[in-house]
Parts: sequence; structure tokens; C-alpha cells
Amino acid sequence: MTEDRIVIAGAGPAGLVCAAMLARAGVSVTVLEAEPALPLNLRASTFHPPTLDILDDLGVAEPLIAQGLKAPTLQYRDRATGLIAQFDFGDIADMTRHPYRVQCEQFRLNQAILEKLGPMENVDIRFGAKVVGVEQDDDGAAAVLADGERVRGRYLVGAEGANSAVRDAAGIDFEGFTWPERFLVVSTPFDFTKPFPDLCMVNYFADPEEWYFLLKVPGLWRAMFPTRAEEDEESIMADETAQRRLRRVHDSGAPYEVKHKTLYQVHQRVAGRYRAGRCFLAGDAAHINNPLGGMGMNGGVHDAHNLGRKLAQVMTGAAAPDILDQYEAERRPVALEYINKHTIRNKRNLETADAAEQAAFRQELADTKADPEKTRAYLRRVSMIASLEQP
Ligand SMILES: Cc1cc2nc3c(=O)[nH]c(=O)nc-3n(C[C@H](O)[C@H](O)[C@H](O)COP(=O)(O)OP(=O)(O)OC[C@H]3O[C@@H](n4cnc5c(N)ncnc54)[C@H](O)[C@@H]3O)c2cc1C
Repeated sequence: MTEDRIVIAGAGPAGLVCAAMLARAGVSVTVLEAEPALPLNLRASTFHPPTLDILDDLGVAEPLIAQGLKAPTLQYRDRATGLIAQFDFGDIADMTRHPYRVQCEQFRLNQAILEKLGPMENVDIRFGAKVVGVEQDDDGAAAVLADGERVRGRYLVGAEGANSAVRDAAGIDFEGFTWPERFLVVSTPFDFTKPFPDLCMVNYFADPEEWYFLLKVPGLWRAMFPTRAEEDEESIMADETAQRRLRRVHDSGAPYEVKHKTLYQVHQRVAGRYRAGRCFLAGDAAHINNPLGGMGMNGGVHDAHNLGRKLAQVMTGAAAPDILDQYEAERRPVALEYINKHTIRNKRNLETADAAEQAAFRQELADTKADPEKTRAYLRRVSMIASLEQP
């Protein structure tokens, strides 16, 4: 196979956005996906305003918006006392073409991009192609597949998620920690606007005993709860345990209809490097974080956009290869200082039992609401517009 192409491991949001950036610039790209078809698992469900701007440029925002829900506001609530503050992305409508979040399952993005890329002659998407290693030299890099085949290109992007084989093969550490508690996501068609008429589509509930969030996706509400470190998986996943957690949100007197339950381990980790020679990391392969703020998948799309643009410039001769060094310099600090910092702080604000911290969080929200400039600065941060300030 010619080296005049980019090889991407992983057909998740990061890999496919990177592929779309390259394909539209006329660069040949091969995407290697381990699964036999696009996975339909329920994972991230929030697309932030600047992510929608990026996806719009790639022609895939419209199908997402059509299949999802526009969420122009978000709320912080106290489980005991109700609404603390509501913010409206309309206040930053001059900063984005999409002043709202879109609530939609991430697999729909993957499907929309695949539909665009499928007919393109310069795109080769291979399913059932599990990457297990990497080889590289001065001219190119090859993904080594499980059956021993080498798929070679000028550069290789590891976008194959948290257990990245490219990252491991390149000897890059995944520094950080794993939270002791796992997070449980329960989806139900129960209409939470009945007990909470002022609810919006994105709602974070602070509670020192058991915080939670309620997110609306088409046809369902997703509730996410922390579990306790000592709880075993069987008891967490038992129907009665999910019912008990939901009853603490609202006791309707009848059992909840539960459509899905997912339990997952939550980490805060950032790769020690985003580049090793001709190999790059993007998305969860480069950084993973807790989901409070919806920054994981969005950050991965932003990585892919940044890296895809640079690789396209180098492949088409519009820029010298040195430009690729800027990728890590621009994106790794975002994962370390922005995504990590905000998601850890968001978790702390919801779970703290410390009265002074609780008061400070509520006061900060009140001060932010009271000052239009603070509100705009706050919305720039939570929408991740502020994380994209670099060229
Ligand atoms: C259960 C769960 C729930 C989540 N919920 C949220 C949430 O509510 N909010 C949020 O912001 N984030 C959430 N996340 C995180 C979010 O899903 C990720 O940040 C996002 O999927 C990252 O996209 P990605 O393209 O980097 O990786 P992925 O989406 O993981 O895609 C990687 C792709 O690579 C493939 N692959 C894996 N190994 C190989 C290999 N060796 N060779 C070839 N292909 C391979 C996989 O099959 C997959 O298709 C959740 C994650 C999990 C696991």
C-alpha cells in the first residue's frame, strides 16, 4: 500500500473527524476499526457549540441536530432546595453559530461521518481490523494488525480509545489516576419535567450523599450517579438498586421503566506525549476524564480537528512537517489544565459535604449570574470555546 496516506486506528468520533478533515482536503486515508461494524454503544451524549461549528464545516452537524435535541440552557440544582442557577448559551450567540448544546448519542455522529466518507474514493474504512502494534522508520509508520498485516502510511494516528495500542506500542505513559467510585448511567422514558416543571435538558444536582445529573436525549432521560467504591457490580446493576437511586431523584410511587444501564470506571489521565515520531494520539487515546461537563468526546473532536488540519497541510505541501510539533503543544495543555481541571472541579462542586465549599460554589454561581460579563466568560468556558483559542 502506498505511503502517501494517513492511517488512523479507531472509527470513533476522534478517528472519523480526523479522517473527514483529511478526506475533504483530498488526502488519502485508511481507517482501521477493530469491530465488525460501527459500535452502537451509549456513551457521550452532549455536543458543545464549537464542536457543532466544526461538525457543520464537515457537513455533519445538520443530521445530528435533526436526530438530537437542542439544549440552549443548563442548570445547577441542589437536591434538597431546587434550582441554584440556570445559564443560557444565547448569551454567547455572537461567539458561535450554534448557541446551544445538542443532546444526541455519539454513535449517531459516527454514522453521519461514515455516510459522508463511505462514497469518497480517497477513503478506505476497514472493519474487523484490530491494531496491535506499530512500526516506524524515517519515511512512514505502519499499524500492525492482529493477523500480522502491516498497514503503512506517512503518519499514523492512534484514535482507538482509552486502551490505545498505538500509545502502548509507542511507549507513552497514560499518567493520572482512576476514581475509586464507578459511575452508573440509567436511562428511562419517565418524564422528569412532571416532578420538576422548571427542569431544562441538562441538569446537575449537587448532593453530598449522592449527586447526580439528568440529561435529556431523544425519547429518554439519562440519570448518572456515582456508586460507592465498596459496592459490587452485581448489586449496582440489580434492578432494585437502580430503582432505589431513581426513587431518590423522585418517588413517583411506581417502578421506573429502565431502558439501559451502563456502569463504567472513570479516570483522569493524560498521555505523557501526544507524538512519538510519525505516530500521534487523539481523543480518548490521549486523554480521559470524568463526564461532568461533557468534555471528553468534545475534546477528542477538537484534537482531531486540530491534528487533521495540520496533517492535511503537510500532506498537500501547504505547510512544512514542523507544523506537526504544534499539535501536542496546543492540545496537551488543554487536556491537562482545562479539561482535567474543570471536570475535577465540577465533580467536587456537586459532591462536597464541606459547608464552606458548598457556600462558595453557590456564591460563585450567584455572582456569575448577576454579572453579564462573568456570565459570558463562564459560558465560553463551559461550552469549550475558551479551550479553542489557539490558532
Ligand atoms: C460507558 C461510557 C460512557 C461514557 N459517557 C460519556 C458521557 O456521558 N459524556 C462524555 O463526554 N463522555 C462519555 N464517555 C467518554 C466518551 O465516550 C469518549 O470520550 C469518546 O468516545 C472518545 O472518542 P474517541 O474517538 O477518542 O474513542 P472511542 O469512541 O472509544 O472510539 C475508539 C474506536 O476505536 C476502536 N478500537 C479500539 N481498539 C482498537 C484497536 N486496537 N484497533 C482498531 N480499533 C480499535 C473502538 O472499537 C472504537 O470504535 C463515556 C465513555 C464510556 C466508556
